[in-house]
Amino acid sequence: MSDFVYDLIGLTAGVFFILALKGLSHPSTARRGNLIGALGAGVATVVVFFHGEIKNLWWILGAIAVGTIVGVPAARKVQMTQMPQLVALFNGVGGGAAALVAIVEYLSLGDTATTAEVIFTVFTVVVGCVSFSGSIVTYLKLQELMTTRPVVFPGGRFVIAATLAAVLGSSVWVVLELGTTPLLVVAGLSLAFGILFVLPVGGADVPIVISLLNAFTGLTVAASGYVLQSTLLIIAGTLVGASGTILTRMMAEAMGRSLFGTLFGAFTAKPQDTSGVAEDRPVRSGSPDDVAILLNYARRVVIVPGFGLAVAQAQHTVRELADLMISKGIDVAYGIHPVAGRMPGHMNVLLAEANVPYDQLAEMEEVNPTFGQTDVAIVIGANDVVNPAAKTTPGCPIYGMPILEVSNAANVIFLKRSMRPGFAGIENELLYDPKTMLLFGDAKASLTKVVSALKAL
Ligand code: NDP
Repeated sequence: MSDFVYDLIGLTAGVFFILALKGLSHPSTARRGNLIGALGAGVATVVVFFHGEIKNLWWILGAIAVGTIVGVPAARKVQMTQMPQLVALFNGVGGGAAALVAIVEYLSLGDTATTAEVIFTVFTVVVGCVSFSGSIVTYLKLQELMTTRPVVFPGGRFVIAATLAAVLGSSVWVVLELGTTPLLVVAGLSLAFGILFVLPVGGADVPIVISLLNAFTGLTVAASGYVLQSTLLIIAGTLVGASGTILTRMMAEAMGRSLFGTLFGAFTAKPQDTSGVAEDRPVRSGSPDDVAILLNYARRVVIVPGFGLAVAQAQHTVRELADLMISKGIDVAYGIHPVAGRMPGHMNVLLAEANVPYDQLAEMEEVNPTFGQTDVAIVIGANDVVNPAAKTTPGCPIYGMPILEVSNAANVIFLKRSMRPGFAGIENELLYDPKTMLLFGDAKASLTKVVSALKAL
């Protein structure tokens, strides 16, 4: 295949990636966007086999086979609630692979490497190794294979700063001296830095760090594209780097945090009581019949879904309830908080699975002003995203996060199993509010009973 045809196909794959990102920006086109992206990646992989001399063909095919055998079942079987962990693993492996490719390329270039090539190689190794080891720690945290709380130790921030300085120093050493040993020292120190960098981040902030590491991997791939002289890698890496950076900013903003606070806040935070032990105060609990009666007389109902809806897999039942209310002439909307659930867009994906019409989904800014005219806000498996402590309790883990202001509705119904707190581990005053009614039980079982009771009215 001529260089011209190869470049043209590469450019086409690059256009596929851009169209994929465009598609992924809206729930109604996300599936198509994903397929276009996969097609672009497929084209980009296959075309390489028809351009120039291929060395180690069987090793490459073997690696593709192993990746497919492990990756496809893992992606198919993973629960939606475990998606951030899977993304972390895939991302880490991508960063690690880019670092390994750069090391091998460096060895093959030997003394002929230009200074620019050495700088890009070192950059790829540093950022790829940080991304690899950091992603493994985020995986361990989210999978609860280690503590999800921030891991801090005396002098921790100085150790992090010293490790970073050592990474930078040894990188300069590689550029000046050239040689395999300095490069391996850089790789080792970068792996250590990746671990130290993620350890102080608390569980709630880990998905933000995954997104940041994802952006890092993008930059690594772009830099390795320079070393390997592959325009396509530069395009794909830059797209991942840019979109990952935007996503990181958006997530931090939605949680009311600065990126610096997310990464290093644990070193300056005051100890919090996040034991989450429920207080022994009375709450008003009701039955499915009580809830159905309240809904039957409502004119406007806002459904607020959260992580518990995903755990209960109650998306189809919630849609059944919404359809039933609409058939009774009730105005129904879903209030979607940007960080409800455990990953960006979690609730949109979940509700799309049940074919909830997009025009019924209202973003936080859109729905908040309407709670004053809402008769019932029904909170299904959500907690932190409606917790007024975000506004009233300075220093609590979610302080500053914008919330869905359900307390402005005339009545609030909470569907949850117990008095346990949400992800941030803090008490929610709204559960004790006289206007709140609690319907205890698994969200799917409770909703099924409410649907039957409402049908009977
Ligand atoms: P929360 O984790 O605050 O609350 C979930 C609630 O669901 C709990 O109160 C739990 O109570 C209840 N629940 C769990 N399982 C069930 C079930 N089977 N049936 C009924 N209820 C159930 O979720 P939110 O969505 O309100 O908030 C998301 C949190 O995750 C925020 O703190 C956010 O910052 C954080 N986060 C979100 C990210 C994102 O991108 N979306 C990324 C990182 C963090 P009980 O156990 O009593 O049933």
